[in-house]
Amino acid sequence: MKMPLTLNRSTCLVATVVVGAGLHTVRAQGQPPPDHPAVTVRGQTYTPRSILARNMGTPEDQSTAFPPHKIIGNIYYVGTRTLTSFLVTTPQGAILINTTYERNVPVIQKSVEQLGFKFSDIKIVLGNHAHGDHQEGDALVKQLTGAQVMAMAEDVPALQAIKPGGKAHPIDRILHDGDQVTLGGTTLVAHLTPGHTRGATTWTMKVEDGGKTYDVMFGCSLRAPERLTPQIVDEFNRSFAVVRTLPCDVQLGDHGAQYNMQAKYARLASGGPNPFIDPGSCKVEAEISEAMFRAILAEQSGRQP
Ligand SMILES: [Zn+2]
Repeated sequence: MKMPLTLNRSTCLVATVVVGAGLHTVRAQGQPPPDHPAVTVRGQTYTPRSILARNMGTPEDQSTAFPPHKIIGNIYYVGTRTLTSFLVTTPQGAILINTTYERNVPVIQKSVEQLGFKFSDIKIVLGNHAHGDHQEGDALVKQLTGAQVMAMAEDVPALQAIKPGGKAHPIDRILHDGDQVTLGGTTLVAHLTPGHTRGATTWTMKVEDGGKTYDVMFGCSLRAPERLTPQIVDEFNRSFAVVRTLPCDVQLGDHGAQYNMQAKYARLASGGPNPFIDPGSCKVEAEISEAMFRAILAEQSGRQP
């Protein structure tokens, strides 16, 4: 599996790729994370390696459009098979969450247009966390649309290090935990849920659909790195507690696998109830991530998980 060179510095793979690699050592293929510890959540067994593989898929999956679709209310899917992008439409323009890799921006643009929206109507760009597979395209989207890029303060240094083609990473508004982003009557709330990155952000909003109001959670990756520092341990302990308290009827994620996107999308065609309204599965990804975090911590501490 050949990895594009742009993968090597600023993606979810960063921890595994950079460790042991000299500055000028360019690896065509990132070293996968270890196949231990293993945890079983709701009957399914996971290892760090299997979770990353599930999240990223193949390079082709990362850059091939997944059929754009309405999720619920004014929220639409415009991402690739494994890297999510969400379009939130309002009468005053749209919000784009996660631009993914810069090379995917034309893919996202095409999906936006297929849904009947204008790419140039994007007014605000948000992200889930400062890794290249989610936010490398911010500068290009801003260049094409003039949108304002807003980011959690704790992720700003990592975002500033993401400079595709040398372009500075735009940051027009710095957010803090609990801040609101409002456009055309839609309000998103930024929740600081760090660990995967310092400023990893879980977004929540309310959506109207079929005369009812639902709580939507745009979950961010809570995937622990191989080596846990005391700071990262503190961050994750806080984040798992926060995520458990967030209201949620519709759970989304920065990778489609975090909310079973492909299976839910397939069920859309059957014409039954909206498969994305699924409060029972809202916390599954956090359960998997927390079980893995505790197992890695136990392994690192020399105890048996
Ligand atoms: Zn990541």
